[in-house]
Amino acid sequence: MRSMNTGKENTWCMGCGNFGIIAAAKKAITALHDEGVSLADIAITCGIGCHGKIFDYLNLSGVYGLHGRALATAQGIKLANPKLHVISFGGDGDSLGEGLEHTLFAAKRNIDITLILHNNGTYGLTTGQASPLSYTGYKGLSTPLGNVENPFNPITLLMEAGASFVARAYSAKIDHLSGLIQQAVRHKGFSFIEVLQPCVSYNNSYDLYNERCVMMDAIPFDEINARQLAKATEQIYLGIFKQELKPEYCEAIKVQDNPLQRAERLAMIIH
Ligand code: SF4
Repeated sequence: MRSMNTGKENTWCMGCGNFGIIAAAKKAITALHDEGVSLADIAITCGIGCHGKIFDYLNLSGVYGLHGRALATAQGIKLANPKLHVISFGGDGDSLGEGLEHTLFAAKRNIDITLILHNNGTYGLTTGQASPLSYTGYKGLSTPLGNVENPFNPITLLMEAGASFVARAYSAKIDHLSGLIQQAVRHKGFSFIEVLQPCVSYNNSYDLYNERCVMMDAIPFDEINARQLAKATEQIYLGIFKQELKPEYCEAIKVQDNPLQRAERLAMIIH
């Protein structure tokens, strides 16, 4: 297997949670490769933000998209070639601000893509403005007196939107995150992993997560239970909140006469 390192200079701040995410991603992709998944069959997309630099540091094909369009490009790649495993990396704004509609509709379609959300609760690249996931009271460049809005809960939001695999991880627990990424990529449908990712420069949440993060023993027995656990704050639960089998978008539209089906027919004729 070729190296996944690109040799590019890494400009993440020392101690940033993004280091844990890239380590887990490399470990997961190596394990998938050992199972027979070719690196040529994996495509990645990113948006703009500190998370997006992962594109420069991972030696995989893909598209470094516009802000908020990581999932739009991911869906285009998947529709053009449904055989690819498409992994999209998104930040707070990319996935739940500018790109919110793409996230909700990709989940609604249950298109077979994996979204890894780098949840650092701030806009780190632009020096710490409040994001859709900043906690109430967060003091940053755009909210010097404290954020008056409540953050989204990404887990319940994506469950409601229709994602068929929904999980939460913490960037400091690399083996756990790596295992979730492998399960998410193997899952047939839209898979979503919220990764709690401390931003040491503008939202250093290591102490909070080290104190409160707890692994769930099993997938919650129903959605009501899953929602309760996802919203808990005294303890922050990690693991899979939801996993179900339901029709996947590319498979579902194959039964209709559509550009995807015609492209596949043409490819068969050419071969
Ligand atoms: Fe990481 Fe925050 Fe630095 Fe960005 S600003 S690299 S998120 S620590």
